[in-house]
Amino acid sequence: MLRNEPLEAWDRDHFFHPSTAMGAHARGETPHRIIETGSGVYIKDADGKESLDGFAGLYCVNVGYGRTEIAEAIAEQAHKLAYYHAYVGHASEPAIRLSHMIAERAPEGLNHVYYGLSGSDANETNIKLVWYVNNVLGRPEKKKIISRWRGYHGSGVMTGSLTGLALFHNKFDLPRAPIVHTEAPYYFRRENPDQTPEQFAQHCADKLEELILAEGPDTVAAFIGEPVLGTGGIVPPPAGYWEKIQAVLKKYDVMLIADEVVTGFGRLGSMFGSAHYGMDPDLVTIAKGLTSAYAPLSGTIVHDRVWKVLEKGSDELGPIGHGWTYSAHPICAAAGVANLELIDRLGLVDNAGKVGAYFNKAMQDALADHPNVGEVRGEGLMAAVEFVEDKADRKFFDPSKKIGPTLSAAALERGLITRAMPQGDILGFAPPLCLTEAEADKIVGIVKDAVVSVLG
Ligand code: PLP
Repeated sequence: MLRNEPLEAWDRDHFFHPSTAMGAHARGETPHRIIETGSGVYIKDADGKESLDGFAGLYCVNVGYGRTEIAEAIAEQAHKLAYYHAYVGHASEPAIRLSHMIAERAPEGLNHVYYGLSGSDANETNIKLVWYVNNVLGRPEKKKIISRWRGYHGSGVMTGSLTGLALFHNKFDLPRAPIVHTEAPYYFRRENPDQTPEQFAQHCADKLEELILAEGPDTVAAFIGEPVLGTGGIVPPPAGYWEKIQAVLKKYDVMLIADEVVTGFGRLGSMFGSAHYGMDPDLVTIAKGLTSAYAPLSGTIVHDRVWKVLEKGSDELGPIGHGWTYSAHPICAAAGVANLELIDRLGLVDNAGKVGAYFNKAMQDALADHPNVGEVRGEGLMAAVEFVEDKADRKFFDPSKKIGPTLSAAALERGLITRAMPQGDILGFAPPLCLTEAEADKIVGIVKDAVVSVLG
């Protein structure tokens, strides 16, 4: 980079950043940071400042930064064949190889992969597939999709509607029909403080059943959920949740879409969150961990029972009318193959389970007794600390105090990236799956120090 170029001014004047306070950024009121390099769990900016990335980018750089194996696979594929499309049966070798590798790793019956470029477009594909299937099955009224408040499934028109967070709806005229939301499995924020986790899980299943009955079971096509609620607060489900939810879905013949954009490929210490929680989804959304974000690639894994209907539809109607120019892009597929090989070779799924357990316990030990810490929770290498004004009656801080962002900024000053989750005062953690126990200790130490500095 040429140091005399006015990059900061160009950034402010010309770069429309996603999920950014636009005015404040353009006026230079918010931090401006150019990230230049990364290695392992660390990134370094253009001023030479290093940070431990406790959120793996956007919970996606699962193998860690600077993996030359993936860079080389990308370069090799770019030299050999940068692009050919996958329409009308065309393929590149890495796309075929990757599909086989995904099917080998996915839970039983999930054997067919459609590729996109982002979690959002993969969920867009899912909605279309659900509608197509129900049309082929001769039930054109069965089209509604149920999502959860606080779920995150993307920020397109339909996927932004699936997302159950106000920030992604406000002023965008979302959510759009036919998407409806049900209760989040968020035990800490339950209305009835006397409920046990099991009772609360049953309450969530009862609410779902009520909603299906109110909407009309013949109109409800699918339910979508992240195995562990992610952007909505990093909330593992209460015990028995998925079992009870699936019983309701079966009863009313409603398909299950497991959005594994975050949990797929090891984050919970299992290859897939569906296997971790005994889910039997019809469609699985994958993205982030598929390439560890070394190249943009997402996918929908289709269960055999859905595939049969799609085949029937296509036999009757001709080629499926769904495709992107960059579906199964050879460079991205090559990155995916190298990434999955690396995950195996480094034993990162096991590491996420082991170091994740260590990390969650260390965070619990360090922070659970603080008077403003309402809950420390997590699973595998996902964790969250939720802050409250008053612990005894779960009184939350006024959002205008911006406690979450202030804590996150205090951690950053101390060399740690955490994520202030968008709804509530919640610090989120999802470090690369190669995290060591020493690095986990470092994260916990910095967080504790930041909390004491901000809240006393
Ligand atoms: N689904 C989940 C569970 C996610 O966490 C995300 C992004 O964070 C998405 C979908 C959307 O993915 P993308 O940002 O790649 O469109």
